[in-house]
Amino acid sequence: MTRFWRVWAVLFWCVLGRAEPVWADAAPLEAPAPKACSFDAGEGAPGLSRRDAFAAGEVVLTFDDGPQPSATKRLLDQLDHHGLKATFFVVGLWVREDTYQLIQRMASSGHEIGTHTYGHDLRLTRRGWGVDYIEGQYELTRVLVELALLAGSRDEFRALYRRVLERKPGAILSPSQVRARWRAIQRNHFELLAERGFDQEQRVYPMRFARPPGGIPYEGHWPVRKMREEHEQALGNLGLLNVLWHGVSGDTVLGRLDDSEFLLANVRYHTRRGGILLMHDRMRADAMADVLERIASDPKLRVVTLESAAAAKYGCSARELYAGLRASAAVAAR
Ligand SMILES: [Zn+2]
Repeated sequence: MTRFWRVWAVLFWCVLGRAEPVWADAAPLEAPAPKACSFDAGEGAPGLSRRDAFAAGEVVLTFDDGPQPSATKRLLDQLDHHGLKATFFVVGLWVREDTYQLIQRMASSGHEIGTHTYGHDLRLTRRGWGVDYIEGQYELTRVLVELALLAGSRDEFRALYRRVLERKPGAILSPSQVRARWRAIQRNHFELLAERGFDQEQRVYPMRFARPPGGIPYEGHWPVRKMREEHEQALGNLGLLNVLWHGVSGDTVLGRLDDSEFLLANVRYHTRRGGILLMHDRMRADAMADVLERIASDPKLRVVTLESAAAAKYGCSARELYAGLRASAAVAAR
């Protein structure tokens, strides 16, 4: 090749071979729309984890282990003040007569509510009690959230609790009591819903998300595949997406709980990268105020909901995703 053609070949490659075409400014290329309800069966159960790519600065705010009477109220006030939407992964045993109105407020303010099990059982998948027990731990929180949403007063919440759980309000179920009683409690709940005019399988609250306590058996070194399979089967039975996280605020690191700068630095780092951020309702008040102020005032950050993050991943809502999975399972079973 002569020198003349070599120069032209290099110029041709420079113009046409660039990852971004030089005429992109004139006619921007649109990203292809995701295939409707696409789900990779090799992924295990549907859900979101650190393996899912988020754009830099795009964050989902999640708060675990509530509701707590004063901490969750303060947090809801601050989220309202900044116009931020979050997801609360609720622990069922904390849904009580002094917190049921906080559940109502989460729903009416447009926050998402997920289940973080009834008793925050860190041995959820390690007791060897199988899929049924795991399902019961997640389902009891859903029942309690729905009782909270149905109650028109503290007295009514107490009455609903007594009727459905067949216990004194506030009495806590042990893991073995959850295992033995959850199906009967669910049955009582469905009877109550039927009396209130709900159709079969219609729920008070369309809960779509679950998070295992401590992230076990996904976070850390839990090599037992059976634990994950049982966990995913339980969530599949309930139609819930498994939600882990990309970054933590560090508000459970003993010895650093009073270190506001440490918490803020963690949040700054993880929000800049983008993804699901894990915090707790009970984070110290001044640190929480700083964190939310920073998130709300940073023009490079965009707070999105879990529902929209799931929809971006799967090409449809969580509800449609599970309806599609159920339909294909029914076809396969024929
Ligand atoms: Zn937790």
